[in-house]
Amino acid sequence: MAQVQRMSRLMVKTLRDDPADAETLNHKLLVRAGYVRRTAAGIWTWLPLGKKVYENVARVVREEMDAIGGQEVLLPALLPKEPYEASGRYEEYGDLLFRLKDRKGSEYLLGPTHEEIFTQVVKDQCSSYKDLPVILYQIQTKYRDEARPRAGVLRGREFQMKDSYSFDTTDEGLAEAYALHRAAYQRIFERLGLDYRIVSAVSGAMGGSASEEFLAPAPAGEDTFVDCPECDYAANTEAVTFALKPVSTDGHPAVEELDTPDTPTIETLAEHLGVPASATLKNLLVKVDGEIVAVGVPGDREVDLGKLGEHLAPATVELVTAEDFEGRDDLVRGYVGPQGLEKVRYLADPRVAPGTSWITGANKADTHARNVVCGRDFEVDDYLDVVVVEAGDPCPACGAGLKLDRAIEIGHIFQLGRKYADTFQLDVLGQQGKPVRVTMGSYGIGVSRAVAALVEQTADEQGLCWSKEIAPADVHIVAAGKAVQTELALSVAEQLNAAGVRVLVDDRAGVSPGVKFTDAELIGVPTILVAGRRSADGVVEVKDRRTGEREELTVSEAVARLTA
Ligand code: ATP
Ligand code: MG
Repeated sequence: MAQVQRMSRLMVKTLRDDPADAETLNHKLLVRAGYVRRTAAGIWTWLPLGKKVYENVARVVREEMDAIGGQEVLLPALLPKEPYEASGRYEEYGDLLFRLKDRKGSEYLLGPTHEEIFTQVVKDQCSSYKDLPVILYQIQTKYRDEARPRAGVLRGREFQMKDSYSFDTTDEGLAEAYALHRAAYQRIFERLGLDYRIVSAVSGAMGGSASEEFLAPAPAGEDTFVDCPECDYAANTEAVTFALKPVSTDGHPAVEELDTPDTPTIETLAEHLGVPASATLKNLLVKVDGEIVAVGVPGDREVDLGKLGEHLAPATVELVTAEDFEGRDDLVRGYVGPQGLEKVRYLADPRVAPGTSWITGANKADTHARNVVCGRDFEVDDYLDVVVVEAGDPCPACGAGLKLDRAIEIGHIFQLGRKYADTFQLDVLGQQGKPVRVTMGSYGIGVSRAVAALVEQTADEQGLCWSKEIAPADVHIVAAGKAVQTELALSVAEQLNAAGVRVLVDDRAGVSPGVKFTDAELIGVPTILVAGRRSADGVVEVKDRRTGEREELTVSEAVARLTA
């Protein structure tokens, strides 16, 4: 049987003040309530109460992974560099990777994620299609030398992740493993009590559900996502698309040149002409694999270079420099317009639809042109969603104005396909007796980060506020101080414990009732039971930590209530 946890013996030191450098709730409260301790930047120690909460989250994750047939394994964190060199990630990870050498000078790394090693494990263990499909998972420590290890356990340099990997011989098998994970993740986050959204992780251009992120909305989050207030559309900001709506090109006046001295920027131009920036067409020049390409967007919108890069991958996208204009008389810096760009590929945002009319550069110094109509005066070679999404942009699903919110990425599911199987030639013998290349999925949950996300979403002014499934105890019993009160508290604790209720009892001597009450609120166990003034009559107070509702009950009533 579990033991009653006694505060007099528990290693927990609560603090009245927030740590000086703490910016986020989870950092402040987990430290103040004695759950974690910072060892170094982004490196945390889980103290007894914190370890309990961490293990509760891990248990929920484990149960749901087991329920979809996942097999738990444990891989090392210290890894040889060769597999990561083979996949190219030893280089790609750059500064994010912790690299080290052993005494013989051989190079190692601390695993940031384990696709390579899992692929090798399966190559070694599975040889026939009969050995597949298989889902392997671990709950294990990961290392990433994050640039900004802040926000408590939300972003650690050492952190705990549940990572799983599916191995199948067919695309349908992979789709099934993905769907199983998606459903398991939904159950996990629901059981944890997290409010979350599922968003597509890839840009609209790449499409599909091959990769989705689970986001927990919270102001401390480092991801921005779009949320529709009217329908259930939610998406990564990079994934928002705008529908192309061509209209007739007829009925516009002819192109007219305007004398616009010293107006090389949209702001100077709009001010000079007394028009809104949205009436102007901005033409950003970039180099795509070294070739100059123009990208047209409304003058009031910013180009998202990341999004552009994703659309054009694997080509590289760079900004143009002054040197690129040398010998290019067709490109008049600051006065470029698509109507004169014969030698340049023209990409545009769908807002620049056929039939729309613009004020834009006239391809002459100090000159712009008005009534430049898309589809009449210039053609768009390719439409790409490249503008930075803004609040109020239309929802691609229902058209309502979108909201931009902050969120914490708590999970990520990804149909990897054959990338790693190709690298390591992971084949199994197929039904026809020929080798078949295996296809993989990779799925992660930030277990330590989920603890942080829970705090960010559920804590209140008084402190932490756990749900029953996650809390370090079910009931926090406060013995106000007198002997009779402590006696009653311990007796109730024993009765509850005997009935399988997890109890934390504050039996500390010489600590004032006020401090004990404050600590109970801070520690955040769902039910607080106080053995106070009416202890001699066998009456205690039972309080709901979340709602603050309190009730006086006899001991037997209280025990009956809490063991129901
Ligand atoms: P982020 O964009 O926040 O850096 P990521 O996209 O790099 O995350 P993945 O590689 O998909 O993350 O890792 C799977 C999961 O591990 C994430 O969804 C997140 O919950 C968790 N995670 C990633 N990095 C950290 C970290 N530094 N500290 C804590 N948890 C993390
Ligand atoms: Mg991710």
